[in-house]
Amino acid sequence: MFNPYDLTRNNIRNLTPYSSARDEFSGEAKVFLDANENSLGSPLLKWYNRYPDPHQQALKQKLAAIKAIAAEQIFIGNGSDECIDLLFRCFCEPGKDNVIICPPTYGMYEVSASINDVEIRKAPLLDDFQLNMIHLEQLVDANTKLIWLCSPNNPTGNSLNRADIESVLNNFNGIVVVDEAYINFARQRSFLQELGEYPNLVVLQTLSKAWGLAGLRFGMAFASAEIVSILNKVKPPYNINQATQELVLTALEEVGQVNDMIRILVDMRDALAGVFESMPTVEKVYPSDANFILVKIRDAHEVYNFLLTKGIVLRDRSNVKLCEDCLRITVGTEKENTLLIDAMSDWFNR
Ligand SMILES: *Cc1c(COP(=O)(O)O)cnc(C)c1O
Repeated sequence: MFNPYDLTRNNIRNLTPYSSARDEFSGEAKVFLDANENSLGSPLLKWYNRYPDPHQQALKQKLAAIKAIAAEQIFIGNGSDECIDLLFRCFCEPGKDNVIICPPTYGMYEVSASINDVEIRKAPLLDDFQLNMIHLEQLVDANTKLIWLCSPNNPTGNSLNRADIESVLNNFNGIVVVDEAYINFARQRSFLQELGEYPNLVVLQTLSKAWGLAGLRFGMAFASAEIVSILNKVKPPYNINQATQELVLTALEEVGQVNDMIRILVDMRDALAGVFESMPTVEKVYPSDANFILVKIRDAHEVYNFLLTKGIVLRDRSNVKLCEDCLRITVGTEKENTLLIDAMSDWFNR
């Protein structure tokens, strides 16, 4: 039987978490003199002098309704990046445990592992950017705590095969993290509804991409109530600030507007992919389930530098293994996409 407490570091299992003023009294009162706040106000039109809800309860209620899961299955982080770091800190003993990643993938898994002094084992993706299941299995040992899967994957843009992810979930005794930062742009459906079936599943999502709220720093980890409670013990008490909580609560009313943007972005992505395919030195346009496209182009690094001189910044992935000569291109506005296409024509006609 999978039990997340068996995987938890001893110091975390035995931890008495910080108890904030807002933890010890959270009811209605007339006078709050318990948190050393400034009772006179803030030097702003709107006041932020009170500490925010450490448990983000209003947000979790609303997210629970939108995602059709229980509020107890939701952890909110200061960006997914905080969720990633907390997973290492809760489950990986520095200098002893290890985790597996499948590069090329999101860089923060490895950075976070290094910061926490946790060994990283790599099972590179196959040529079609799918999981190498045999290699993955060979890397697992008794100290493997987490397997990181990113689907749709950054920077390749493809979704991982669902059957492969299910196979990892079924056969691995540690925690499987499925990072779904780009799920809103994908043809694949989310793994959220599988939480009941897999007690070892953690699904990461974020408001930074499809929701257009990267500046607010709002990431979510969905998991069993037990895993969520372990993350809650370790997080900073007030990790989601008051302004972000209020703004996200308002934004979550606008699911329709976000779905409209997703449709437009997906249409522009597919049109843009067609344009790239017709370009002379483009060697491959990889299929994308995300809001960016990976393009293999001759002299990628020179193209990147040329576009910089035109004021256009892409992500140069040409020195990343399996992404040789590749640029990662985010779908922009119609106008930005046209500027990019025109600048690339200038490159071909120089
Ligand atoms: C952009 C991205 C995130 C988002 O991180 P935030 O900290 O929530 O902005 C997470 N995972 C992947 C793979 C990403 O590309």
